[in-house]
Amino acid sequence: MVPGPDSEVSTPEVTTPITAEEEVADRKMAEANAFETIVNKKALHSIDPERVLECFLDLVRIDSPSFHELEIAKYCKKVFEDLGCTVKFDKSQKKTGSNVGNLLAILPGTTEGEIVLCAHMDTVNPGVGVVPIIKDGLVLSKGNTVLGADDKAGVASIIEAVKCLVEQGGKYPRVWVLLTTCEERGLLGADFEEFNIPKGTPCLVLDSEHAPGAIIAHAPSKYDFEAEFTGKAAHAGVEPEEGVSAIAIAAEAIAHMNLGRLDDGTTANVGTVTGGRANNIVPNSCVITGECRSMSEAKAKEVVENMDSAMRNAAKDLGGQVKIEWHHRYPAVEFSDDDPLVQLLVKVADKVGLNSIISKTGGGSDANVLSHHGLNSIALGNGMTNYHSLHESIKIEDLENCALYTLAIVYEVAKHLDILHKK
Ligand SMILES: [Zn+2]
Repeated sequence: MVPGPDSEVSTPEVTTPITAEEEVADRKMAEANAFETIVNKKALHSIDPERVLECFLDLVRIDSPSFHELEIAKYCKKVFEDLGCTVKFDKSQKKTGSNVGNLLAILPGTTEGEIVLCAHMDTVNPGVGVVPIIKDGLVLSKGNTVLGADDKAGVASIIEAVKCLVEQGGKYPRVWVLLTTCEERGLLGADFEEFNIPKGTPCLVLDSEHAPGAIIAHAPSKYDFEAEFTGKAAHAGVEPEEGVSAIAIAAEAIAHMNLGRLDDGTTANVGTVTGGRANNIVPNSCVITGECRSMSEAKAKEVVENMDSAMRNAAKDLGGQVKIEWHHRYPAVEFSDDDPLVQLLVKVADKVGLNSIISKTGGGSDANVLSHHGLNSIALGNGMTNYHSLHESIKIEDLENCALYTLAIVYEVAKHLDILHKK
C-alpha cells in the first residue's frame, strides 16, 4: 500500500517561541504546511485523470433515465464491492416506481467520524443511447441526447475519490456513498431513502452546474399546491344567472396573487389551469396548480399564506368553494458564510487551487431533501454545463478537479469532526 497522507506530515523546524501567541501561530503554520503537503503533493498526484475520464465515459454509456437505474446501479455495486465496500440497496423503488432502490456503499473509515458523498444515478430524457464525444478538452454527446454529466460527473468523481482513499490510505472517516434514483423526478429517491445514516453527518451532494470549488450554500424551500374550485353549472345562454363560474373564481384568485420574482430569493408561479366542459356551460369546476420557493423558510410560509388566502377569498366573494392541498416538497438549504462546513469547503478549495465561490441556486437538489432527513448536506459544483439540453458538456479538467476536491475534503473532514456534525 502507498503510505497514507498523514505519514507525509513534515515536522516543522523548531524555533524558539517567545510568546504563547507565537507558539500558537507556529502550530497553525505547521498544520497549514502539513495540510499543504497532504493535499497538494499527495492527493493531487493520486487522482488518475485517465481513470476518472474512463469511468465517466463508462457511466454515460449506460442508459439510466429516471425509473430505470438498475443497470448503472449494478455497475456501481461492482465497482464499490471491488474496493472493499459493503453495498446495499433500500426498498425505495416501491415508492418511487424505479426498477431499483437507492444504492449505499460503505467504506470503513481508518479513523472516527462519518461523511456522506451523494450523487444521483438517473438522467433526464432524451438520455438513451448516449455516444460521448471528446473535443477540445470537453466531453459532449453526439447531439441527439443529453450527455448525462448531470449527474454522472458526480458519480465518477465519488468513485475516483474512493479508489484513491483505498489506494493511499491515511486517516479518513467512514464514507457513506449514497447514489440516488429518480432525482430528476422531484428528488423522489432521496426523499424515500431508508438507510438511517447518522443524523448530522456532513453530506456532499455533487450535483450543481458550477465549476468544482463552488459551494451551494443557499437553495430554496419549495411548496406545491393543487386547488379545486367548485361553482355551479348552468346553461350559459339560457340561465347564466343560475350559474357560478369556477373558472372566474380561479381567475379572480390568480389576479390577487403576487407571482413571478417576489424578491431576490423568492418566486411564485401558477403553472396549470384546467377546467370547463363546453362553451355553453357555466363551468362548475376548475383546477389550478402552482408553487412558491424561497431561500428563507419564513418567507416561503408567508407566500403560501398569501396565495392560500387569495384563493379562499375569491371562492367566498364569488359564491363558490375551494379545496386546496399544499405539499412542502423540501426545506431550504441555508448555510451562513461562517458555518464550519462552509469554511472547511472554502479552505480545501483554496488549498487545491480551485476557485472557491459561495453560491446559491433557485432549484432544489438532493441536498434539500437530505437536510430534511437530518444530514448536514450541501451541494457542490461538478462542472456540468448546459445540463438538461442536447448541448450538455463537461470539461475533462473539471471531472479531475471534482474528484480531487472530493478526496481532499474527505481527508480534511477527518480532522474537524467535532465542529462538522450538526446535532
Ligand atoms: Zn442533477
